[in-house]
Parts: sequence; C-alpha cells; structure tokens
Amino acid sequence: MAGILYLVPTPIGNLGDLSQRIIETLKGVDFIAAEDTRVSLKILNHLSMKKPMVSYYRHNTETSGPAILTRLLAGESCALVTDAGTPAISDPGEELVALCAEAGVDVVAIPGPCALVTALAVSGLPTGRFTFEGFLAMNKKNRKRHLDSLVSEERTMIFYEAPHKLLSTLNDLRDTFGAERRISLCRELTKLHEEVRRTTLGEAADWYGENPPKGEFVLVVEGAESAREEPVSIEEGVRRAKELYSQGIRMKDAVKQVARETGLPKNELYQLVVTEESSNIK
Ligand code: SAM
Repeated sequence: MAGILYLVPTPIGNLGDLSQRIIETLKGVDFIAAEDTRVSLKILNHLSMKKPMVSYYRHNTETSGPAILTRLLAGESCALVTDAGTPAISDPGEELVALCAEAGVDVVAIPGPCALVTALAVSGLPTGRFTFEGFLAMNKKNRKRHLDSLVSEERTMIFYEAPHKLLSTLNDLRDTFGAERRISLCRELTKLHEEVRRTTLGEAADWYGENPPKGEFVLVVEGAESAREEPVSIEEGVRRAKELYSQGIRMKDAVKQVARETGLPKNELYQLVVTEESSNIK
C-alpha cells in the first residue's frame, strides 16, 4: 500500500507555533522532504529529533518530485516542509501534491502557521471575501498586467513581498489603486518585533521612502468600492413611498425613508405622492 504525503507547516517566526500534531507527524514519517535541509535541521534539533531528509526545492522539483513519489508508492510516508509556513503556498509543494493526486497517493495537509491568514486576520480590513495574489512579478510587463487585472477588484487583496522590493511595490500599488486606498502592512508576524501598520497606500509609500523597510512583510490591501447603484427615478421613488404608506407607515415617514435611501428630493417626492394618493381617493 502506498504511503502518505503530509504537508507540514513550520513556524513563521515563533517556535511556540509547532503544534502537537506537527511534532507527532514529523516523528511518525519515514523521511522529510525539505526546501532547505539546513533550516529544517534546526527544527529537528529543537525537537531533539533525527530523521532522514531529502531536498525538494524550487529548482529540483522535476527530479526530486518523481523520486519522492517512487518512495511513497513503495509504502514510505513523507513530510514535506518548507523554510517557514505552509508548504505549497508561495512555496514548493504544489507540483508534488499534483503528482501524488495523479498517482492516487493520499495527501494530508496539517493546519498551522501561514503568513497570509495571520496577516488577514489581524489587518482590520474586511475578511469576508479576499484574494491571495502572492508575489508580484519582477518583470515589468507581467507586473503591470497583474496589477491592471486588479483595478476593480472589490475583495481584500493579500500580497507577499521581500523588504528590498517593498518600496517599489508600494509605489506601484499606490499608482494602481490610488493614494487613499487603505493598506495594512503586517511585518515580522509572530516575532519579537511584530508590527501592524494600518494606513493608506500614499502614506505607506512616503513612510518607507524615508525609513528603509526591514523584516518580512505581508501587504493587505482594501478592495475597490463596489460600483454605485443605478440612480433611482422619481417615479420609482413615488412607487416605493406609496408601497410603504400602504403598509401603514405615515406618509411623511415613508417619503423621508425613500428620500434617505435614494437621494431623491424629499419635497418633490412628497408632493407627487400626495397628488397621486388624493387622485386615488376621488
Ligand atoms: N508558505 C509561506 C506561508 O505559508 O506563509 C510563505 C512563504 S513565501 C516564500 C515568504 C513570504 O511570506 C515572505 O516574503 C513574506 O511576504 C511572508 N512572510 C513569511 N513569514 C512572515 C512573517 N513572519 N511576517 C510577515 N510576513 C511573512
């Protein structure tokens, strides 16, 4: 019987985030596939654990992936770990999961540290609907195409960025979405100098233009305002006010409510409703 591939998250800065299940999974597998074996060795040492490791990183997935799959098919179990956070999220793993899925090998994802979820939760921006955009491309054309596709995005957007590229990314975000758009810059999450700066794109670009950024960042950007509703015609306003009136609401209150909801002029609305209602009585 084939073994199981476990996707095992590791702390994004705080070793206290190694859960019991993460530790038990690492203990239980036959071998670990690590993005950087030196980084993962530190975690194993912290847990006083020894485990055979193979490397699985961005530039060897084509050879290492099939080799790991062969071992899984032979019945061994494997924990995939990256340098920090959840494997397969802006990290190696996506292809290995696809390979296993195709070959009918079970994949089990262990929940745990993930920078994007931690940042979104603490951002103070709407969390109901969001989109994860990962890293913006370095290539100018691809970067522009990506940003242009987000101009009317109404969901909260989450970006990863390295500190040395943060300023140019903030400038591009400001130029795309406008200086007034809100952003939460979540820095060094779970670490000693964790910081959440809730500001606007214009202010963030100015601030980091003068104060070179340090540490790791997740950028959480407010979505675009939803498109304005079609204006309501005066005839529709009269109809709505009459409907409320017919439900027992005082005429003045019905007109007030419709005027408030639609922006229609209260007095004109009132005159029209009174005229129509009195012609109905005759
Ligand atoms: N797979 C990881 C995860 O689950 O979050 C993400 C790996 S991606 C290569 C690295 C990026 O994640 C960094 O450039 C940064 O944007 C973000 N990141 C990782 N750790 C972070 C932290 N402690 N605070 C803020 N951002 C962090």
